[in-house]
Amino acid sequence: MRALRLVSDRKLEIAEVDAPPPPGAGEVQIRTRAIALNHIDVWGWRGMAFAKRKLPVVVGAEAAGEIAAVGAGVTGLAAGDLVVPYGALTCGECKACRQGRDNLCENVSGLMGFHVDGFARDLYNLSARLTIKVPPGIEFRDATCAPLTFATVEHMLFDNAKLEAGETVLVHAGGSGIGSAAIRLAKAAGATVITTVGDDEKAEKARALGADHVINYRQDRFEGVVRKLTKKKGVDVVFEHTGAETWNGSLLSLKRGGRLVTCGATSGPNASLNLMQLFQQQYRITGSFGFTLENVRRSLAKMEKGILPVIDCEIELAAFGEGLERLESRRVFGKIVVRF
Ligand SMILES: [Zn+2]
Repeated sequence: MRALRLVSDRKLEIAEVDAPPPPGAGEVQIRTRAIALNHIDVWGWRGMAFAKRKLPVVVGAEAAGEIAAVGAGVTGLAAGDLVVPYGALTCGECKACRQGRDNLCENVSGLMGFHVDGFARDLYNLSARLTIKVPPGIEFRDATCAPLTFATVEHMLFDNAKLEAGETVLVHAGGSGIGSAAIRLAKAAGATVITTVGDDEKAEKARALGADHVINYRQDRFEGVVRKLTKKKGVDVVFEHTGAETWNGSLLSLKRGGRLVTCGATSGPNASLNLMQLFQQQYRITGSFGFTLENVRRSLAKMEKGILPVIDCEIELAAFGEGLERLESRRVFGKIVVRF
């Protein structure tokens, strides 16, 4: 069977490898049907991995597939079911896992596609506990954006920032995979959405997605526009994932008592923080990483209601590297999906 492996920095190869053994007790075997590309793939591919791993490693951190076989003792899943995998190998037994907070697992043994082999291969075995059934009527290309993209946004906006109907949220990089998902999910929750983009074409697309106000950050200082739009009050929530370039402006965009949630630093990881501003303005700043199994289920339930990811394009497995280059240079609007 095929497996797309990272062999050295920026070098991918499609290898012929042995198929996995039949699934063990409590496991299922999944046939991959689609992969969605994410910034974590870019970090891994260009050699910025911040943890130990051994190359070659099979890439692919977000996927959808169908059950090929089930192991002993597995209930609720059967051959032919459309499923998505939870891509972090959590233990299922520690206190955090038992509370359903897998992204705080004390014994996590790696992120698939990053530290350990991922999903860009025809078949793999996975714990049934980490396998989530997709409701009927959702296509592979959409479902594949649930177990990382949508779930990350769900966790950020609703578990961490506690965004509510009637509130205003600033979403950075509305053309990115998670930015476009955040616009859709925040609008569906009844929030007013202000978003930033880097060019006019993306601005038009962000408006078409439902963003109430779109700011071209290359033309205007976004924090100034946000203060004008909110009559100098600021927004309730800032959805951050761009990091160094936007950090100070993001804080200046918040209202008193506002919440900032961040899951990324694509423009750089180091920023300063004025502590006077932090306590006087009573900001709440939350770091968010990963998501729970419940976030994936909620994401799929929203897709079932028609809240779908924005797909930039679908590509073949051999074009995976080109897809990462486009993502790295931000020449995308929404998600790049790899067909299997
Ligand atoms: Zn655990």
